[in-house]
Amino acid sequence: MSARLSRFCRWIPLLLAISIPAPSWGRIGGGQHYRSGGSNRSYGSRSTPSSSGGHSYAPSAPSDGSGDLGGIVFYLVAVTFRHPGLMCPLWVAAGLILYSFIRRRNYSSATQKAFEQREADLRTRVTAQDVEGWVNTLRLKDPEFQLAAFLDRVKQLFVQMQTAWFKRDLSPVRPYMSDATFQRLKVQLQLMHEQEIRDALADVQVLDLQLIGLDQSEWFDTVHVRVKAQMRDVDVPASASDAEAARLAAAAPLESFTEVWSFVRKPGAKTRIGEDLYQGKCPNCGAPFRGGATNNCEFCKAVVNSGNYDWTLAEITQGIEHVRLYPTVDGLLEARKADPALNLEVLADRASLIFWKWIEAQSRGDGRRLAKLCTTACLQAIDTELKELKQHKRRKVFLECAVGGVMVRLLQPASTGTYDEAHLEVRWSAKMGIGPETEHPPPLPTVPQRWMFILVRKRGATTNTANGMSTSRCLHCGAPLTDSLSATCDYCGAELSSGERDWVLELALTIEAWNSREQERFQAVVAKSAAPPANEVITDVHERERLLYMMAAMAAADGVVDEREKSLLKLYSGRWSIPWAKVEMALSAGPQLFDRLVPKGSPEAEVFLHSLLQMALVDGRIDKQERKMLESAALRLGLADRLAEILAGRST
Ligand SMILES: [Zn+2]
Ligand SMILES: [Zn+2]
Repeated sequence: MSARLSRFCRWIPLLLAISIPAPSWGRIGGGQHYRSGGSNRSYGSRSTPSSSGGHSYAPSAPSDGSGDLGGIVFYLVAVTFRHPGLMCPLWVAAGLILYSFIRRRNYSSATQKAFEQREADLRTRVTAQDVEGWVNTLRLKDPEFQLAAFLDRVKQLFVQMQTAWFKRDLSPVRPYMSDATFQRLKVQLQLMHEQEIRDALADVQVLDLQLIGLDQSEWFDTVHVRVKAQMRDVDVPASASDAEAARLAAAAPLESFTEVWSFVRKPGAKTRIGEDLYQGKCPNCGAPFRGGATNNCEFCKAVVNSGNYDWTLAEITQGIEHVRLYPTVDGLLEARKADPALNLEVLADRASLIFWKWIEAQSRGDGRRLAKLCTTACLQAIDTELKELKQHKRRKVFLECAVGGVMVRLLQPASTGTYDEAHLEVRWSAKMGIGPETEHPPPLPTVPQRWMFILVRKRGATTNTANGMSTSRCLHCGAPLTDSLSATCDYCGAELSSGERDWVLELALTIEAWNSREQERFQAVVAKSAAPPANEVITDVHERERLLYMMAAMAAADGVVDEREKSLLKLYSGRWSIPWAKVEMALSAGPQLFDRLVPKGSPEAEVFLHSLLQMALVDGRIDKQERKMLESAALRLGLADRLAEILAGRST
């Protein structure tokens, strides 16, 4: 008996080994948070051996031991028949281990999804009284406003937009969108094209529409509509015809999602039943509107997507990203003294337009694509960086780029010269990296980003209210900006990069870099706006991800990730309910996930540590484990001795 037993014991490790999935199993597209199930994206890894780019994150090939496996299985079955009393419990145990492993893997992504759904529901929940209140408010100035009719139009636009997106031709829906929204969709289509994929959709269906908010300012009314919809959605090769793409999409799973569509309109504009763009008429004069890139009515010259005459789609956000309250903006009242029409809606749209051009310029490796929207110095800085990459035959890659929100944070006179500054926070996410020029990048995790865009404009310039949400225009002649690479208007030749009439980008930097630059304002601004009410800190999964991935990227930047570091990351992953598989992906992608890592011991690192502290303080206290986590993180950030001071400072 004992001899037999020892013979089994020899098999136990093997048994366990084949029961427990290898770590790579869950990583290749499975359980990940890819928008359309990443598994179909091989990024050309088939044509290029995984060794070619030296990327450690190429999926490891499944072990090739299938031949031996048959023999082992046969042997195990035979042993089980011979010694059922011993083998059956062993099988059950192995099965349980396998089950718990699989469950744990799926559990984290299921939890994530459930978190997001709940989050979206919470953020978009309203009562019937709320809705009635908003509708009545709108009717005060616009008695013809009917909620049902309005929602019908949203539904119609939603479906039209999906069709345009699917067909990769946005011209039919362009008049309904702000310029930044149009730019966003255009750049997204182009990024996919470069990836040689197209988004195939099928069975698009709107499930529910609900008015969930009304913001009013002197310049615009903004209504937020929650759209619950479902569709089949899958990426297919860019070369697929519409018919092929539709056929492939029909086989994809039906998925539901929640988005918030925000529309703006000038207060005082009236609902004109049967006389709007949806009937092919100019919303101002009612003459037939033929479309075209200028978005101008050929009869009355009205800018149809300005928001001055009818609701213009200003933003599409995921339900989970919807923020109800706009934070107060430092310096807004002061800035309005010189420019009474200065408003957050137009400013945010302009910044969003600049953001998408900034992404386009970088991903195409040519800063001049931003030339009409940034200062000469800014263009030079971007071009220098891109040229350096090019010299090394490398390029920046942004995949599945999305914007979570654009918020004006601060308005102030520039410290030197005769300019004013507008600081806007852009929350966005992308699978980003730096890769060889000619190859497709390997799978990358989606990384949330928080950046500050500093825009400048000559003092004395004022907001052009006639253009409204049509923010991609020359303010000298009113013509729409073209895609040419010059810094001048193609119609009137005006120099645009000087910021003489409109806001242009001066600098884009990470939130940490910005915070440390604005050190003296840090207390005032960050304490107020970047530290939202406690419940938002708890639930902001993207901010948690961002911080954790940054830690992972910093750890990976040193080359070796030791066990202590790994266990720290694991603690955070557990505490913040971010699937460990995602953190592992961030670890193997390394520093390239971020444009710039937080330098050790720097003021930026201190800002970063403060953010970790805020997360820990979400429940009002720092427990023993959190303290340990903060201490390890402080060590990693090169701030081991600062932590005690910071903690002490907090209690005083
Ligand atoms: Zn007209
Ligand atoms: Zn011009």
